[in-house]
Amino acid sequence: MGKDELAKRVKVIIKRLAENYPDAKCHLDFKNPFELIVSTVLAAQCTDVSVNKTMTPLYKSKYKSPKDILKDGTEKFRDSIKTINFYNNKTKSIIALCEKLEEKHKGKVPGDMESLTELPGVGRKSASVVLGNCFGKEDVIIVDTHLKRVSARLGLIENDNPEKIEMELKEIVPPKEQFYFSMRIGEHGRLVCQAKKPKCGECFLSDICPSFNKV
Ligand code: SF4
Repeated sequence: MGKDELAKRVKVIIKRLAENYPDAKCHLDFKNPFELIVSTVLAAQCTDVSVNKTMTPLYKSKYKSPKDILKDGTEKFRDSIKTINFYNNKTKSIIALCEKLEEKHKGKVPGDMESLTELPGVGRKSASVVLGNCFGKEDVIIVDTHLKRVSARLGLIENDNPEKIEMELKEIVPPKEQFYFSMRIGEHGRLVCQAKKPKCGECFLSDICPSFNKV
């Protein structure tokens, strides 16, 4: 597809996503950057619902800062998050993350991509989630499984590698729209363009989607 045609398609997609999901937001519960960064790390290969169920009461009762988790120690923390998939490895990641936050950032979560991605267990996706949701950054693309799948079906990307996908989408989605586009396309992936059986018949993008009824 030519660049002009792609640009036209993206414009329509952005507009329709905004009309249909004006308030799409993060599915992890959080009250501050600390809660969101911890929950984002815990949500790898696990549902947001399960992370919320375990973590929301814990944030309320005892884990209000990296210090609180470190004070509790590895074993107690591991015990507290036992319901979450891969809790053993995730405990190690969260303890390392909290140590680094204390050592380098006085217990606060930094608000820039470089510092965030230097933290243990935090890749560009998690960093973008925190930057967009907590620091008001609009020029972030959150490459999660939904964005990957739906963008590919819509013919917006050619790559499979998350960093390349991020670059491809950054070239065609205006900076001010990138965070909202990420949240909304994620919502479309959850509600309509699902992995196994996309609901093409009820999709508001069916007239411009090259994968319509082909998945
Ligand atoms: S038409 Fe089908 S494949 Fe294309 S975005 Fe909609 S649900 Fe997904």
